Amino acid sequence: MNYYEKTLKTETVYHGSIIDVQRLTVELPNGREATRDIVRNIGASVVVPINDKGQLILVEQFRKPNEKVFIELPAGKLDYKDEDPLECAVRELKEETGYTAENIKKILSIHPAPAFADEVLHIYLATGLTQGECDPDEDEFITAKPYDFNEVLTMIEEGTITDAKTVAGILMAARLLNL
Ligand SMILES: [Mg+2]
Repeated sequence: MNYYEKTLKTETVYHGSIIDVQRLTVELPNGREATRDIVRNIGASVVVPINDKGQLILVEQFRKPNEKVFIELPAGKLDYKDEDPLECAVRELKEETGYTAENIKKILSIHPAPAFADEVLHIYLATGLTQGECDPDEDEFITAKPYDFNEVLTMIEEGTITDAKTVAGILMAARLLNL
């Protein structure tokens, strides 16, 4: 089966600082036309930081779209289109938690919202952590703190942690570490 949708027309309806929104007219496989509203985003890197006690370093942050505080893995968007996601991961870990990592390796890529966004998240596992000063962006109010790994798995099970990148990254890390 051919699923491809040919783009007939592209209209940028919003150009923002973090996202663009486009409305595309497409030709469906059956020849009919349809509209696709798409959020364009440069992508981001996410870090699963594990300290020498086996604890996860997570950040608390208010998220306006859902009007509540989320507990998440440290993460941030790429600075520019072709930035190496590894560089971004190292920077975001330092900015949001103050930690630097001796070892940092890619464990997963995810598409958090493929129905309406092209965003890709690059997830890294960071170990051998050394604590320093954090340096969040001016408009970011963030608290980083360590959590026991099992406590975090329970928070995922119970629905206290619902952020997609955090759930995916932590479950992947648990699988890799045989936890
Ligand atoms: Mg961030």
